[in-house]
Amino acid sequence: MQLLEKRVVIKLNEGQYLLVNPYSGLADILDEETLQMLSSGNFDPHEETIVGLKRRGHLLEEGEEEDLFRHMYSLSEQLHEEFSKHNLHVVMPTYECNLQCPYCFERHLYRKDVKWKTTMDEKTVDCLFEAVLSLDSEAEGEKCMVFYGGEPLQVKNYSIIEYILKKGDELGYSFKVVTNGADFYHFVPLLSQFNILKTQITIDGPKEVHDRRRFKKGGKGTFDDIVRGIDLALDYDLPVGIRINVDSANMGHLPEFAEYYREKGWYPKVYAFATNVHGAECTSYSSLISVEEFTRELIDLFLTDERMDVLFQTFRYPNVLLEHLFAGEPFKPRFWACGSHTSIFIYDAVGDIYPCYEAVGEEVHKVGEYRPVLKFNDRFDHWRKRTVFTIPECRECNLAFFCGGGCAHRAYDAAGSIYSPMCDKTKFSVEYEVPYLYQVMKEKKKSLSEVRDWYFE
Ligand code: SF4
Ligand code: SF4
Repeated sequence: MQLLEKRVVIKLNEGQYLLVNPYSGLADILDEETLQMLSSGNFDPHEETIVGLKRRGHLLEEGEEEDLFRHMYSLSEQLHEEFSKHNLHVVMPTYECNLQCPYCFERHLYRKDVKWKTTMDEKTVDCLFEAVLSLDSEAEGEKCMVFYGGEPLQVKNYSIIEYILKKGDELGYSFKVVTNGADFYHFVPLLSQFNILKTQITIDGPKEVHDRRRFKKGGKGTFDDIVRGIDLALDYDLPVGIRINVDSANMGHLPEFAEYYREKGWYPKVYAFATNVHGAECTSYSSLISVEEFTRELIDLFLTDERMDVLFQTFRYPNVLLEHLFAGEPFKPRFWACGSHTSIFIYDAVGDIYPCYEAVGEEVHKVGEYRPVLKFNDRFDHWRKRTVFTIPECRECNLAFFCGGGCAHRAYDAAGSIYSPMCDKTKFSVEYEVPYLYQVMKEKKKSLSEVRDWYFE
């Protein structure tokens, strides 16, 4: 009998460890002495603790772990087939944006004039719907479309947005919207006539901080217009969430924004969460911080400033380990990182299809076209087949079933292939978030199940 080879051991605090079974999600707290005894393999199989740990699947007989691994592989194949029946159609009416944020990952597209200047016309939208209907002819589940950009909600594009909403609505689609919020208030009455499931708006901190980062051509800040839009959306009962893009330039202002968010009466009706700004191709932005710094510094803020409490939802991002340990969800192993590998089709304004939100406009990641007719290239399967079983490093990794292989797009940027691992998010979640949330659960008796999630995939 031996400890699982792919066991996950997380240090909770001095002398206390969490032993997690990556095949079932079962987790048990051990002291250092027991952990050392188990790792040495020198123990009495009839001793009570050992019998208990065996029952929980942490200790197995020789050969049993290989069977478990094979079982996980079959499960992943089965789940992949199921998830691939649920399409998520993302519409980019234009690449153009009415803001000039210094950290934008689409900045490199500004130079590609044809793409940048094109906005969908009705003929293109009709082609898009033909593609959507053909892809959905055998699909299952909710019929949903996401507006994305560039910036989809620009006043000058009002009529084409209305056209898409009406056409989608007639065909039974509901909608989600990702917007910078600058022109949002103009669209609220229109959007409220349709089935809008979520609207995500970015605010990067208190007014002064936000306006330094998210401004229009010429420098005019957008904070006041965004606030006006959110207040109006609440009057119209539209579901709104705030995304706060964080780097070293605004991290320290999060508590101040949290205070504003609470005093404004937005919490908990309006969702709000913080996430880190990623680097992007051809963009040099000096305030970037690593995922590790972001995770560590964010937790420091939560530990030292009570105003942060209203942003606790930030830890409710798609993370199967946190969901299982701290939100009471059944363990759902993650065999791929995101919907790009099963469900997402992103339709741009010039007739191309991409699999990933951050890869739009990058020829090397284009997976197909929908105009004049729907067709896919070899890259489509290449993206769809990325799982932890097809990335050699991930096959061997004990975090694989919590991680899914990490972001494919960032893996490509770092190593030139989407079939390489991108470990940071899960690695630092295990190292910093699990011990922190355990402490919160113990001391404040508060768990993630008390806050809503706002998953957007
Ligand atoms: S591949 Fe990465 S950037 Fe693209 S949608 Fe997935 S997680 Fe997001
Ligand atoms: S990306 Fe890294 S942490 Fe994630 S499964 Fe692969 S090797 Fe493990």
